[in-house]
Amino acid sequence: MKLFDVYPLFPIEPIKATGSWLWDSEGKKYLDLYGGHAVISIGHNHPHFVEALKSQLDKISFYSNSVKNSLQEKLAEKLGQLSGYPDHQLFLCNSGAEANENALKLASFVTGRKKVIAFKKAFHGRTSGAVAATDNPKIVAPFNAGHDIVFLPLNDDKAFTETINKDIAAVIIEGIQGVGGIQLPNDSFLKLLAAKCKEVGALLILDEVQSGYGRTGKFFAHQYSGIEADLITIAKGMGNGFPVGGVLIHPDIKPWSGMLGTTFGGNYLACAAALSVLEVIEQEDLMNNALKLGNYWMEQLNSFASITEVRGKGLMIGFDLPDSLSALRKDLLFQHHIFTGEAKPNTVRLLPSLALTKNEAVLFLEALSIELKKPVLS
Ligand code: PMP
Repeated sequence: MKLFDVYPLFPIEPIKATGSWLWDSEGKKYLDLYGGHAVISIGHNHPHFVEALKSQLDKISFYSNSVKNSLQEKLAEKLGQLSGYPDHQLFLCNSGAEANENALKLASFVTGRKKVIAFKKAFHGRTSGAVAATDNPKIVAPFNAGHDIVFLPLNDDKAFTETINKDIAAVIIEGIQGVGGIQLPNDSFLKLLAAKCKEVGALLILDEVQSGYGRTGKFFAHQYSGIEADLITIAKGMGNGFPVGGVLIHPDIKPWSGMLGTTFGGNYLACAAALSVLEVIEQEDLMNNALKLGNYWMEQLNSFASITEVRGKGLMIGFDLPDSLSALRKDLLFQHHIFTGEAKPNTVRLLPSLALTKNEAVLFLEALSIELKKPVLS
């Protein structure tokens, strides 16, 4: 059987990884500043993560959500404590799209409404609900185009104020747009969204699938604005590569039996992985590390004359290049063995492990300065 050929692939096969480093099948070593779409939060194969999974496998690996699972309770407790949302409730699932799907469904259950406001360049995943809230007509199938979603420009107070009303079930927004090219919502815009949602009884969904889990230096990117969200979706960095996602749900939203459900969500291995990630984030002070190294990178990136704009917070950074430098990402990979991400048309995305070291950060700047023909400042 052949694989369904939907992914453009680099001709590189990683077979081993540790920290911020990968080795391919030919023994070449690569610096990973992309983490497979922002997934590697605490570093590849962190010993605490590996041990947590191995020891859980020795006990029990799976049973359904029809029995008590105290690992889920432990995870919820720790997540509440570290995220600053101790009173929200946790629903566990398996991916970011599924988290958003459940959040959109919840908003519709709670409000009895169908309409949703999303934002231009947004990406929320590939299930029919999540993809309908994603601003990319190429990936919306006729089947799922039926969702009642309106796309507004990001940070446009006027357009939002004119559109929000009592027919809206939810407003869904990324903490920082990732796939859309690292676009940041203004603090004042987020405050407006929170206030207006409250006024009309709509739910505010913060998609922190990519920007959450400490990546920006705070647990969630939206916490820089001081607002609180009704629903927060998480995945990616949550499991450091083990598939796991979730929705943080406002305490006023009351569950009823059968309201949501999943077979695999919250399984023992996923919980063991997710718990070990939180423990490492806390023990190794990774949020502060992300902030410190992110600030360092952004300052340095801003000093390259050929970079037209740098955006981001912590270790979620995008920088724009002129068309003449559109080959930079490939050159970084094939000449310097450094993985980075991209966003169309010409943005390079940096989404490394939050345990990145200063030396690794400098290695990248050195490679960049060779490619951009400019000495590194400090
Ligand atoms: N939301 C955001 C902000 C994302 O970046 C992504 C994935 N790129 C998703 C949702 C979907 O996550 P998943 O691929 O785990 O379904």
